[in-house]
Amino acid sequence: MGVTVSFTPQMEKRLTRRAARMIGQSVRQFPELRNMKIHVGHTKAKLGVAFIPRAFRPPLYIRLRVRGLTHNTIGHELTHLLQGLTKLPPPEGVPAWEPVPIGETQCDIWTLARSDLFCDDAPTYLRMPRAVRDNWRHYARLVRSLCVEAIRQRPVRRTYIRWLESQIAELPEHSPVSRSDAPEQLSLSL
Ligand SMILES: [Zn+2]
Repeated sequence: MGVTVSFTPQMEKRLTRRAARMIGQSVRQFPELRNMKIHVGHTKAKLGVAFIPRAFRPPLYIRLRVRGLTHNTIGHELTHLLQGLTKLPPPEGVPAWEPVPIGETQCDIWTLARSDLFCDDAPTYLRMPRAVRDNWRHYARLVRSLCVEAIRQRPVRRTYIRWLESQIAELPEHSPVSRSDAPEQLSLSL
């Protein structure tokens, strides 16, 4: 039932226990990919690469850079696989899924919306102010919920990406005080 993940010899040489664990955790967020085989190669040049399948010829193939690997990058490449697969009839035993529209920004939006796991780094293509990108840890959950809302609005709002990016641009400059940052302020709010 699970996804079968295999690695190229080049990737096996570089794969760390941490990277293998991150890939396993990420793949589990994609029930659409169950029963499928994913082959993972290595790239030095980029964060990651996905080969969007145009015909269903397993295994599916992505490449990742191990150094500095984030869940967000793994999720982004796996979402690219879905972008290709949505054009194909679902394999037997896998329920039909909602199509993920083609495009890099779309890929970022659907990746963040999918799981908190993919909030560990700012996405590459979704436009956001410097202050949000530089303080991503503080804004990640807010941006993620805006992505979920944008996907919800997409059927009735053709300009949902512009809407989303304008909402992100309007986020308050200082992120809400979090428990770890200022416990004394938290007690005052009572
Ligand atoms: Zn991409």
